[in-house]
Amino acid sequence: MSYFKEQISRDLILDHIKRPRNIKVKNTNYKSKYLKNPACGDELTLYVLFNKDKIEDLTYEVSGCSICRASTSMMSELVIGKSKKEVTEITNNFKRMVAGESYKEELLKDAIGLSGVSNIPPRIKCATLCYNALLEIIGGNDEK
Ligand code: ZN
Repeated sequence: MSYFKEQISRDLILDHIKRPRNIKVKNTNYKSKYLKNPACGDELTLYVLFNKDKIEDLTYEVSGCSICRASTSMMSELVIGKSKKEVTEITNNFKRMVAGESYKEELLKDAIGLSGVSNIPPRIKCATLCYNALLEIIGGNDEK
């Protein structure tokens, strides 16, 4: 990775840690999923409010490393307002990026700040924890 790209990554990650996006009050209509990454100690509860097929709102409680916290904040900005199908595509792209494979940058916005995780394989699970929680919620929401 070039110096320039590395600097952008660092700035983006720090920004999402200092000002985590989409932390807010939730009610009982939110579906939730708790996931843990024992290898690192990251813990996350994700809360998602659906409007039919779309994610109307999303919030979370997260404790753990910088990568996990930044990734959750970045994901929250990416998926609110998106359909389950779009969310699945975003998730697949993110997982390709952190695996060092080719991906569509335009789908990932700030989350491209985590592209360097592909160079540190033990941290990939920190970055994907929030996406895995979201996929489980989406899979478990078949009523509509
Ligand atoms: Zn972690």
